[in-house]
Amino acid sequence: MIFMDASLRIARIAGIDVMIHWSLFIILFVLSSYFYVTSSPFGFANLAEFERIVFSVLASVFVFVAVLLHELAHSLVAMRYGVKVRGIVLFIFGGVAMMEKIPKNPKEELAIALAGPLTSLLIALLSFFAALITAGGISMFFLISAYFNAILAGFNLIPAFPMDGGRVLRSLIARRTSYGKATKTAAGIGKAIAVAMGIIGFFGLNIWLLLIALFIYLGASEEEKIVTAEDLFSRFSIGDIMTRTVISVSPETKVGEVIDLMFRYKHLGYPVVKDGELVGIVTLKDIMHADPNAKVEDVMTKEVITLKPEDPAFEAFRIMSERDIGRIPVVENGKIAGIVSRSDLMKIRELLEFSEVLEWKRS
Ligand code: ZN
Repeated sequence: MIFMDASLRIARIAGIDVMIHWSLFIILFVLSSYFYVTSSPFGFANLAEFERIVFSVLASVFVFVAVLLHELAHSLVAMRYGVKVRGIVLFIFGGVAMMEKIPKNPKEELAIALAGPLTSLLIALLSFFAALITAGGISMFFLISAYFNAILAGFNLIPAFPMDGGRVLRSLIARRTSYGKATKTAAGIGKAIAVAMGIIGFFGLNIWLLLIALFIYLGASEEEKIVTAEDLFSRFSIGDIMTRTVISVSPETKVGEVIDLMFRYKHLGYPVVKDGELVGIVTLKDIMHADPNAKVEDVMTKEVITLKPEDPAFEAFRIMSERDIGRIPVVENGKIAGIVSRSDLMKIRELLEFSEVLEWKRS
């Protein structure tokens, strides 16, 4: 994830790293200013100066605490089903929980998807009652929390990807049909909602509605693309699609020779092999600023993500898109058995999209 590089870890809750992206500070400032200049019930402009500042800052920070609680709820339920959660990042547009592989079991997906909005709804209700029994700035603060959390819950329940509501919809449809078909139907509904919102936004001259419509449309397409790829690759293992002739280099190879290889074969990464065993990988990024006479072992990446021939082919697709790597070595009994590249996947995908080839492979 791009965010993780520019993010600062601020806490660790139940084993989940909570990180904030620098862009969050911009929105905290903007929100605080908004609360400061707006009068009740959406701001604190009616209060005396000191209270006005304190509550404006508190409320803007709490907006992100609420987002964090929402994401934590998703994460904790997901962890109960054995999903790894890499962390939660708070940034200018809200929060994301980075989960690896959300389960394809409709019941589990439903529970994970609903946990967030239900938590926000609960906070909204509690805040509303707290606002009723308190007075002054505190009551105003709780009322803002009630509004915000209710909007957070409502917005996320729009039945379209990438919102939680999209997942809720898919899990409900998936009870009666396959996961792939359910995704297509849910993505179609999401796109239709996006188009409707776009039209309303366009004629109502509402730029926000237009942006949200675009966001939903792209999210629905993305989800559909991923699941279609997964469907396509599901009949194959890594062993079926890997390239078996691997051009590798030794730890003693000079960086200059690697550059020659790159020009000759147009591959931008080579496994580094010593006595048949994989010890690293050397990519364009590793050698970019290196001396041509340096040895590969001094510049190579030593921690290599590898696959096994029996892994499902989709794993390669998933790892490449999640971690942004182009080539993954395939290892069997410690020895290198092949390599899978992004262009391999694209070619296989093109092949698979011909139904004749699919039929042939099936029979
Ligand atoms: Zn959510």
